[in-house]
Amino acid sequence: MERSDFLKLMIASPLILSAMKLKELESVTSELTATEKMPLLFIGHGSPMNAIEENEFVTGFRNIGKDIPKPKAVLVISAHWETRGTLVTAMEKPRTIHDFGGFPQALFDVQYPAPGSPELAKETKDLIKKTPVGLDDKWGLDHGAWSVVKHLYPKADVPVIQMSIDYTQGPQYHYELAKELSALRNKGVLIVGSGNMVHNLGMIAWDKLNAPSYGYDWAIEANEKMKSYILSGDHKPLINYRSQGKAWDMAIPSPEHYLPLLYILGLKDEKEAVSIHNDKPVAGSLTMTSVKVG
Ligand code: ZN
Repeated sequence: MERSDFLKLMIASPLILSAMKLKELESVTSELTATEKMPLLFIGHGSPMNAIEENEFVTGFRNIGKDIPKPKAVLVISAHWETRGTLVTAMEKPRTIHDFGGFPQALFDVQYPAPGSPELAKETKDLIKKTPVGLDDKWGLDHGAWSVVKHLYPKADVPVIQMSIDYTQGPQYHYELAKELSALRNKGVLIVGSGNMVHNLGMIAWDKLNAPSYGYDWAIEANEKMKSYILSGDHKPLINYRSQGKAWDMAIPSPEHYLPLLYILGLKDEKEAVSIHNDKPVAGSLTMTSVKVG
């Protein structure tokens, strides 16, 4: 080391020391301490049967789980929890909600006993300035959350909370609201959006349920365009999804399965890498396409 560099270091060191002390103090005052920035996931959850079946999508979920650092907690924005206003689950032990009908008993028997995190719920509430956030003690984990998180963390040893989607708000609002969650990424929290980019249950090709990778032309067209905008970082058309023509109108007949994607995109930093997983259509009118950021 040059003598001048050494001197500079000596002069700077009290500042470094006090900055370190400040960091320590912060970590004492906050339950969730600083970590490397966690990635973001949008997961196409598809059929609830993915919770108990073995198939390529489930393998894809598991591979994503293995590929990222184990989080201290997971925050899920699920298509299946829409409310007026914004809520976060704040119970110690969220119940496993079987919010579907017409499936085998084996699916209703599934329990995913991951703990909640009242601390993270409170921290999330405090972070969000755009709107008041309510602490919820009634919901739990719906299948949009547990059917995928169970494959990421099968031991149910990572606390999971959910944040609801305010159905009174438009896409730009959700994209902006997501940004307020950004600090959680540096505290070991994995933020997961769970929905489907293309999701039109009314158009399902029932005779093609078991055909591999069957997608209608409009489903594939919309999915390909969405992917190209996601990969090029051009989020405007994705936010303005209502103005993208007939294929998108059919792909997104209602917003709830699409909006979780906008949370993940809203949280993405400009230079972060994006990768696509499970990129296949199923039953004509759904795509399982999932997105990893970071
Ligand atoms: Zn769903």
